[in-house]
Amino acid sequence: MLVGNWKMFKTIHETRHFAEVLGRNVGKLSADIDFAVCPPYTALQVAKVVLPAQILTGAQNMHQAEDGAYTGEISASMLKELGVTYVVLGHSERRQMFAETDGGVRDKVEAAQTAGFVPIVCVGENDSEREAGQTMAVVGRQTRIALEKAAKDGDKLVVAYEPVWAIGTGKTPSPADAQAVIQGIRKVVAEVLGEDAASQVRILYGGSVKPGNIAQFVSQPDIDGALVGGASLDPESFVAMAQSM
Ligand code: PEP
Repeated sequence: MLVGNWKMFKTIHETRHFAEVLGRNVGKLSADIDFAVCPPYTALQVAKVVLPAQILTGAQNMHQAEDGAYTGEISASMLKELGVTYVVLGHSERRQMFAETDGGVRDKVEAAQTAGFVPIVCVGENDSEREAGQTMAVVGRQTRIALEKAAKDGDKLVVAYEPVWAIGTGKTPSPADAQAVIQGIRKVVAEVLGEDAASQVRILYGGSVKPGNIAQFVSQPDIDGALVGGASLDPESFVAMAQSM
């Protein structure tokens, strides 16, 4: 699975350009890989219309309430009308800059699955947690709480391991270290949702993935794909990553 998280980048016009380039390269996209991009809300509708059908769309966040007085927020039913398949939840930028909590992510996971979306739940330790040897404790806690109310069906869930210190920094863990953490996440999924769900759930690696390093991550036995920020903005890089998987 290859997912592009566009963060707060790309207007409608720029999304059309991305889709045009991808459209010219669609023959290079393997039918065995699930592709998605997660544009800002304002470009979700056009993305769904102009992207090749093989590229699904995801939102970068969602509010857990059905509706209400939540200025600036977006609900599941609003996303539903846009043909969205995935919703990224608990991205570290949201946890750090917008005070998202483990419990809030749990409620969003439940609401997203109830609405029929596949949540992409992001977990990851920051630099000081890593240096203190707390990686698995932090990632395990985030995963356990996020899945407390989740469906016991691994097809309805994606988890992304994104070490905070690797996001947008050019630094990455070694593929073996990413594999070890992701194997640990899979064990936590088994504890919370059962062995069947744990064997089905796709767990992605994210953090400074680019065309030159994606293969070494996705070749690890427990790593089912990549969640990519910066390098997913350039359509040529997106295609290059798809071809390197
Ligand atoms: C991300 O935003 O989820 C991400 C992994 O960013 P980058 O690929 O730029 O490190």
